[in-house]
Amino acid sequence: MGIFDAHSSLAARYEAARAVGPMPTAVVMDRLLSASEAIINGRRTVTVGTHNYLGLSFDETCIEAGVAAARREGTGTCGSRIANGSFSDHVALERELAAFHGMRHAMVFSTGYQANLGIISTLVGAGDFLLLDADSHASIYDACKQTQAGAIRFKHNDPASLDARLRRLAGEPGNKLVVVEGIYSMLGDTAPLKAIVEVCRRHGAYILVDEAHSMGVLGARGCGLAEQEGVLDQVDFIVGTFSKSLGAVGGYCASNHEQFDILRVACRPYMFTASLPPATAASVRAALAAVQARPDLREKLWRNIDRFHAALSDAGFQLGAGPSPIVAVRLESEETTLAIWRALLEGGYYVNIGLPPATPSGESLLRCAISAAHSQAQIDGLSALLIDLGLAYGAIPKPRLAAKG
Ligand code: PMP
Repeated sequence: MGIFDAHSSLAARYEAARAVGPMPTAVVMDRLLSASEAIINGRRTVTVGTHNYLGLSFDETCIEAGVAAARREGTGTCGSRIANGSFSDHVALERELAAFHGMRHAMVFSTGYQANLGIISTLVGAGDFLLLDADSHASIYDACKQTQAGAIRFKHNDPASLDARLRRLAGEPGNKLVVVEGIYSMLGDTAPLKAIVEVCRRHGAYILVDEAHSMGVLGARGCGLAEQEGVLDQVDFIVGTFSKSLGAVGGYCASNHEQFDILRVACRPYMFTASLPPATAASVRAALAAVQARPDLREKLWRNIDRFHAALSDAGFQLGAGPSPIVAVRLESEETTLAIWRALLEGGYYVNIGLPPATPSGESLLRCAISAAHSQAQIDGLSALLIDLGLAYGAIPKPRLAAKG
């Protein structure tokens, strides 16, 4: 048996799909034109598949902050913070993130994936319990594999299911850590956080909220779902990423727990990898300032979301959730999903695709990530093309002609 044979059924599926046309995994952005447009296959294309919710990847202030930091401090740190020390922007960014969430501490990671992997797997170990929502992101599932804590799934967005599992653990002495997400990345739905926090408090469980998709998007100050639900002060750990609303790369965890800083010498995905390059730390600081100083970006994002969501739901599409920056279009089959995805790309719109096994309940999804950077014409152009394709592929009912009066 060869070393790649374990992947042979996946390889066969991948080859079959590739034989029909271009694959999402092979898209190359030849050139970026702005936060909402790129040249793909030589064609000007509207990007509706990057989670650039506030359009800050092309913000002049953020770019200038990054360029200045690169000139001042070089292109990389060339090592980890425990070995090479911190750069001043790392420390300032952590202070600003903690203040943003109204918490004492924040710790920056090189990716959001590592933030979840590191924090979760270091907080719980043998004898402890990790309770995770069934629709959790891969980084949360991978954290389970890194720890000897017992991993228990509860039904997606179901506080009663969480309650039942915690009741069964009532006699167990170990710590219990509950992990949920602010906005779930596949369907775009939000956690019923108030009810989940109440269940956690009642059972003495700790709670971690991954606000990867909700930071910058939800809450009066853009802090995320915990702020929107009024429970920021009852959440033990907030995880976030710099790769979505903040337009860069990296991740963090914020917490009010006094002993949080011990994780700096215990958390291996923090300790044994190179720290964020100076340009990234500086551009993220500028982006975090923009989240706070420019509520107009969030308002524009929500106007775009509401317009796009209403157009698709009025046309009869089955959508993953109510209005959300991730508008997931549920389709019948993998083949139809790939065919519509390809037709959208040919028509000048790049969206994401979600296929089993990455999707909840094995669904096939077209995922559109809406941004404040999108113009109304771009939003309307995509919804019009999607509706045409939905009709052509029988994914939505044909509109009935209005009766003549
Ligand atoms: N958490 C969630 C919910 C995510 O969707 C993602 C990435 N899509 C991550 C964590 C990881 O973040 P990053 O891509 O910044 O590493």
